[in-house]
Amino acid sequence: MTPPPEVTLVDQPRVACDGASGIAAALGHPRQYIQIDDAIGYGECGYCDRRFVLRGGVADRDGAAAHGPLGGQGAPDHA
Ligand SMILES: [Zn+2]
Repeated sequence: MTPPPEVTLVDQPRVACDGASGIAAALGHPRQYIQIDDAIGYGECGYCDRRFVLRGGVADRDGAAAHGPLGGQGAPDHA
């Protein structure tokens, strides 16, 4: 049973993932730097499959983040 990829909204296109950002320290891995591609708006960690979505980027707008724990707070309200 594989859980869906964890989605994390970030404010900068360059992030570091060590797999242990407060949720499951036992699943940590060597720190991995991820450069988010502007064209797709997200980057994925090769170790833990965590997905980093650039806030306000393409992937954020088309609802990729809505599949994660951060979604489900009602309709987007970008007037
Ligand atoms: Zn990771």
